[in-house]
Amino acid sequence: MARRGPAWQKDLPPIPGKGLVVEAPVRDLFAVDPLAGAPMADLERMVHACTKCQLHQGRTHAVPGEGPTDARLVVVGEGPGVNEDAQGRPFVGRAGALLDEILAAIGCPRPSVYICNVVKCRAPENRKPMADEMEACLPFLHRQLAIIGPKVIVALGATAAEALLGTKASLSALRNKVHEWRGTPLIVTYHPAALLRNPNWKRPTWDDVRIARQLLDR
Ligand code: URA
Ligand code: SF4
Repeated sequence: MARRGPAWQKDLPPIPGKGLVVEAPVRDLFAVDPLAGAPMADLERMVHACTKCQLHQGRTHAVPGEGPTDARLVVVGEGPGVNEDAQGRPFVGRAGALLDEILAAIGCPRPSVYICNVVKCRAPENRKPMADEMEACLPFLHRQLAIIGPKVIVALGATAAEALLGTKASLSALRNKVHEWRGTPLIVTYHPAALLRNPNWKRPTWDDVRIARQLLDR
């Protein structure tokens, strides 16, 4: 009898073709980057003390992110919600519970994954972060990705895709492609909060995360 593999391998979608490519910027020898070489603990301290954008005014806790600093998979959301702001941890509300389930289902349990967001402080009324807020916060995400050096990045939702890929293209146009962010494959899929609103997106998301899972093995 043939041995069956893990359940996520059933009806596996093929790895899709190439999408957008984001190159690392040319290094400016004279620029002073306060984050250059900073280890994660220093970065976390800088996030907690940060007042670079107006979002710092409304926060209870900044939420730098969490997970192993040598994680092979990094998942990037939009920004902390009310639960995350209260606890100082990413994805701890309902969307987070769904994310945990999705990660477990592809054999990447949450403790093995680095989980963070584009902006580290909660936006009022859970509005989308504004362009200037994302721009102010992005150096933290870039440094986190440089420290971790993951094998695969998953962008959850259009805000994370926009921040990392620099495009306002729709989620349906961005998913089902293997983008590349500074040399690392990047998969875009629906945000778990969107899945809670629209269960029709669960199937494509399941395909997307299993594409990411296959890239981890490649
Ligand atoms: N939604 C996000 O985008 N990030 C979180 O951390 C929680 C909910
Ligand atoms: Fe600083 Fe980012 Fe918080 Fe804005 S959202 S205050 S840039 S840590």
